[in-house]
Amino acid sequence: MDADPSVAHKLLRGGGKRDQALSIRPKSMAKKDILPWLVQFARTDVRELAAGPPGDIPNLVYRLRSWLDLEPDEPLSAEVQKLEGNVSQIGRLIAAMRGLLQTVADRTRFEVRYRQGGVILDSSKLGTEGGRALSYRDATLRDAVLRVALDDIYENAQRALRIKRCADSQCRQIFFAERPDQTYCDHTCANRTASRRYRERHGRERADQAHERYKASIHERQAGAVVRRIPRKYH
Ligand SMILES: [Zn+2]
Repeated sequence: MDADPSVAHKLLRGGGKRDQALSIRPKSMAKKDILPWLVQFARTDVRELAAGPPGDIPNLVYRLRSWLDLEPDEPLSAEVQKLEGNVSQIGRLIAAMRGLLQTVADRTRFEVRYRQGGVILDSSKLGTEGGRALSYRDATLRDAVLRVALDDIYENAQRALRIKRCADSQCRQIFFAERPDQTYCDHTCANRTASRRYRERHGRERADQAHERYKASIHERQAGAVVRRIPRKYH
């Protein structure tokens, strides 16, 4: 963790009563890492997370805090900290994020109603790397997560268009494309689709040849007979 002078200042100002762990603020996530991380977060399988190595949940919560970049004295900071013991709440946040990012991937509409809350613009942070200029107060954690994600998507519209859905029909997961023309989330999906296309093409060729042989054998017995063919699907 970096020795940020503002953290030291807050620790002093906050006094000894505040839990020190809550007052230490993770380094804010680099802007270029945000959208890929949001996709990774939205793709997280909560059951795997719960069953996985014990470090996975604190690690995810740390990255969530680093992305949200909450002031240590924001009420939501304490709520985020409690997430480590509340996997089902993590699951709800992941589901909310997935709902949002799927509409981005599908280029459709997303609508959310905020419960209540306020927003603060800290103009001294405008245009700087690290430290969000906007902070939200009194909203629920879900509202804050969605609002901050909406900000990030809107502010980085060109990169947000790299949030796509995998073209493999068995996968259809959202992913962050490393290249603008990438259509599959990984090599496995690209290879699976390629081999399925190969089988389709060659399966059809083989079926055509078999049908021609069958037609010829019928015509040997009965010249001019109409040989019908039942259409088949190839998977
Ligand atoms: Zn895929």
